[in-house]
Amino acid sequence: MIVPKAFLKQNRKKRLEQGHPWVFPSEIEKIEGNPQGGDIVHIVNHVGHFLAQGFYNPLSQLILRVVSYSEDDVDESLFYSKIEQAWKRRQWLVPEATSCRVVHGEADFLPGLIIDKYEDVLVVQILSLGIEMRRQWIYQALIKLFNPLGIFERSDVSVRRLEGLEERMGFVDQPFETKVTVRENGLSILVDVAEGQKTGYFFDQRENRAALKPLMTGWGAGRGIKVDSNGLPIDPKGKAIKNPFWDGAEVLDCFSHTGSFMLHACQYGAKKVTCLDISEKAIEMAKSNALLNGFLHRTEFIAANAFDFLREQVKDKKTWDVVILDPPAFAKNRQAIEGALRGYKEINLQGMKLVRNGGILVTASCSYHLSAARFLTMLQEAAADAHKVLRLIEFRRAGADHPVLLGSEETDYLKFAMYEVFNR
Ligand code: SAH
Repeated sequence: MIVPKAFLKQNRKKRLEQGHPWVFPSEIEKIEGNPQGGDIVHIVNHVGHFLAQGFYNPLSQLILRVVSYSEDDVDESLFYSKIEQAWKRRQWLVPEATSCRVVHGEADFLPGLIIDKYEDVLVVQILSLGIEMRRQWIYQALIKLFNPLGIFERSDVSVRRLEGLEERMGFVDQPFETKVTVRENGLSILVDVAEGQKTGYFFDQRENRAALKPLMTGWGAGRGIKVDSNGLPIDPKGKAIKNPFWDGAEVLDCFSHTGSFMLHACQYGAKKVTCLDISEKAIEMAKSNALLNGFLHRTEFIAANAFDFLREQVKDKKTWDVVILDPPAFAKNRQAIEGALRGYKEINLQGMKLVRNGGILVTASCSYHLSAARFLTMLQEAAADAHKVLRLIEFRRAGADHPVLLGSEETDYLKFAMYEVFNR
């Protein structure tokens, strides 16, 4: 069989050679062999030298998406080995994870395919026509590799339209219980793969949540608590303190969704965590998770819009030891970035004001249109306006189950920073 060929222009930026997995229509000189949408095409340079094989979709701005850098056939067995390799990589790098991302699209050389493993359940999201047409290969591979309790498809995302695809969600085969309890860093977390955000949970912050550990204790002294000669805590009035979490942080977890940050905060010794989310359903889920882990007495839950809530708390002069901001992606596309930056700046500015002097701001952005550099500039502007000085504890990215391709900044989407916040 003769595979169609797409010749790239001579005077294009050599993005593909630098590791970028997409080709845009403007980079193509000519196409030979009359490919149909979803077909495999050989991507060649202007003199016909082979570069890669890619999915072709003339309806999409991502007219070619790299599937393979070899000329070997792209067939069912290749898909199987790609998924198998992706899973082996997780077992190697995140050996303790029983739930994690197994396939992260382009960065696992399966463009437009997301596979998340929730213990015995798998969730699949398909974002490209090439994968859509071959999805049976994927399901067969998953059954063979994992023998899952069931597979659920969460292709209920509007970006599919850019590929000419309708939204779809539901059981791939037999129905099963979609509420699954996953294990993470020693905690039990109940997620609903059918109803939760994205595919149900955000595995990308597993290591970042664990990084909260040292920050959750050491706050008693600042509240005037002293330890007597028997090692018992005494309050400023000289009274013995009974609360075993007297040294723990008071934490505000904004955009809490499943409450994963709250759970980690409690596990690591927080005194009290306030969870805030606009969605009643999310708040219910966070509450169930607090109950499941025995943390209910150290938590409180508020369903409100964070923009209003943060401003009101500032007005009421409320403060916390640690404020966590893990908002959804405000910038859904490049055009929306300016508006998104205003949103990020607003919550960060108000969030900083709510941190006690010497306390901590934990702040994240999962918007891949927002570079790390712009994220940091936004934080500087917020700090200036809030009259705060920030000192970095740690800047982190997504976990190892969300690989990043050098040359493809789209795969490097998660920014996560922990700062001490001082008055200025
Ligand atoms: N920290 C979460 C993930 C956050 S997802 C976790 O660890 O699971 C983003 C969450 O923000 C969603 O649950 C969504 O309901 C909530 N959200 C979106 N807009 C909001 C707003 N304006 N105010 C408060 N919550 C909001």
